[in-house]
Amino acid sequence: MIEMNTMNLFTFEDMKKIKRNILGESVPLELFRSVRLIGMYQGLPMKGKNTTMTVGRKIGESMQVSSIEEVLELFEQLRIGIPRILSQNDNEIHIAIEDCFCEGLPVHEGNMVCDLEGAILEGALSSIYEGEIHVREVKCNVNGDEDCEYKIKFS
Ligand SMILES: [Zn+2]
Repeated sequence: MIEMNTMNLFTFEDMKKIKRNILGESVPLELFRSVRLIGMYQGLPMKGKNTTMTVGRKIGESMQVSSIEEVLELFEQLRIGIPRILSQNDNEIHIAIEDCFCEGLPVHEGNMVCDLEGAILEGALSSIYEGEIHVREVKCNVNGDEDCEYKIKFS
């Protein structure tokens, strides 16, 4: 019973209700990065993979968008990054993210750190499309790639 209550305790709409008179609505990027990279990527088992998938999908589902365009717009509004569709067909969309939160971090080859953002995308799209959606992170600035990219597969 208690669990049922906490499940719907907060909605994405609630997150927009901000009344911080002195410090305002933003927190610095280094805090967000610290949560993501020091806390989750480094601090959790398996680079936080399971947690970021669960957390990202949950956030995505709560956004209640109605089209892929809307999801991509929201990505920019939330300053997750500026998405650009590289290619698109019936079962796959390939997206590049400009100005991702990881831009400027030191390169550590073999590491891709933007899985949470991919999971948010997956969660948001799952409320639009019936059937399976799978988002895969295929490039990341931290890995030394030219940008961060995702492939969204529909099946
Ligand atoms: Zn990134």
